[in-house]
Amino acid sequence: MNAASPLTSRLQGFGASIFAEMTALAVSTGSINLGQGFPDYDGPAEVLQIARDQIAGGNNQYPPGIGMADLRLAVSGHQDRFWGLTYDPTTEILITMGATEALAGALLGILNDGDEVIVFEPLFDTYAGCIALAGAISVPITLRPQESGRYEFDADELRRSITSRTRMILLNSPHNPTGSVFTFEELQTIASIAIEHDLIVISDEVYEHLVFDNKKHIPIATLPGMFERTITISSGGKSFNTTGWKIGWACAPAPLINATRMAKQLFTFAGGSPFQPAIAAGLRLPDSYFTALAADLQNKRDVLMLALEECGLRPITPEGTYFITADVRGRRADGDGVAFCRELPGQAGIVAIPAAVLYDPRHESEGRHLVRFAFCKERSTIARASEQLRAWA
Ligand code: PMP
Ligand code: GLN
Repeated sequence: MNAASPLTSRLQGFGASIFAEMTALAVSTGSINLGQGFPDYDGPAEVLQIARDQIAGGNNQYPPGIGMADLRLAVSGHQDRFWGLTYDPTTEILITMGATEALAGALLGILNDGDEVIVFEPLFDTYAGCIALAGAISVPITLRPQESGRYEFDADELRRSITSRTRMILLNSPHNPTGSVFTFEELQTIASIAIEHDLIVISDEVYEHLVFDNKKHIPIATLPGMFERTITISSGGKSFNTTGWKIGWACAPAPLINATRMAKQLFTFAGGSPFQPAIAAGLRLPDSYFTALAADLQNKRDVLMLALEECGLRPITPEGTYFITADVRGRRADGDGVAFCRELPGQAGIVAIPAAVLYDPRHESEGRHLVRFAFCKERSTIARASEQLRAWA
């Protein structure tokens, strides 16, 4: 066989997922894993019990490719209850293997060679790879910290980045890893550009319920002129502490769902039969469940923020998500976040994610000094991590 790498040219330059690498490092060093964003505690007992009952009751074969009818109904009810968005569960909702598959399906099902996609960096790691696989081009707009510490984009830079080849804007709010929850004004800027240039918008809202300090999550599909051009994507992983179940969904007008489904059926076709009814029940939990989920995480955020501040890591208060982004320059003059994350397990028994890898390689320097800590962990885990950080400081 030819000795050259068999990897498709479309994926040359992409490395292995940072999340796998850092979780392996946490395991091999026995460190507390504040890298990969997954809770170390379970979701609501009734949701877990339904999955067990479903397996025992024989719901173990392929579900319909579009997803089980009751889950589609539950997603539709959830979108209406929380966001006032009306989707027809028979034609406008597609169940996927996590938000990851919904994103891949939408990108690969819609994009053509040479299309340009606006993304906001730092960005979730699968976006750039899927855009490249589709033969399209990522056009990153950098979110930069302002005086307030909040990460924001420059509206003029966004306007200037639109060309005749721009096809799509891929948005993620609440935003991983910066924790920014896009404001109505920011969404309005994005919406007006999308409408003016007739662009499709993919809105990744997996952290829709993880918003703090009375901030409000606003789905961009609710803005005037946006419903018809937006694919709203989410999943049950973050809302029900079931990241390993990989039950996600896409909501959009039928033509956008059909295009997404055409690609999605080639990946897994369908999956997660026993988990679909469980997530349907989760989506029907009372408002108080979702409020308590965010309040608990906010508390954990505050505890970890304090420890990071005390050890000189200059954290920025996230408005939502699982993550605190911190600046290592207070502790490392060279500002090398990758080296910092390699050394931290040995020094403090903590694993974090270097944010540099979540930037386009052309402007990795924008995030060179930033690292991400996940606080979706047991109170005792956060307390132990805080102690270890203070001892290291
Ligand atoms: N989008 C963002 C912004 C994420 O942080 C993640 C990771 N959890 C996903 C999508 C993937 O979601 P899922 O696990 O449902 O595939
Ligand atoms: N979304 C999670 C994170 O950002 C994990 C993603 C993954 O493991 N692929 O940490």
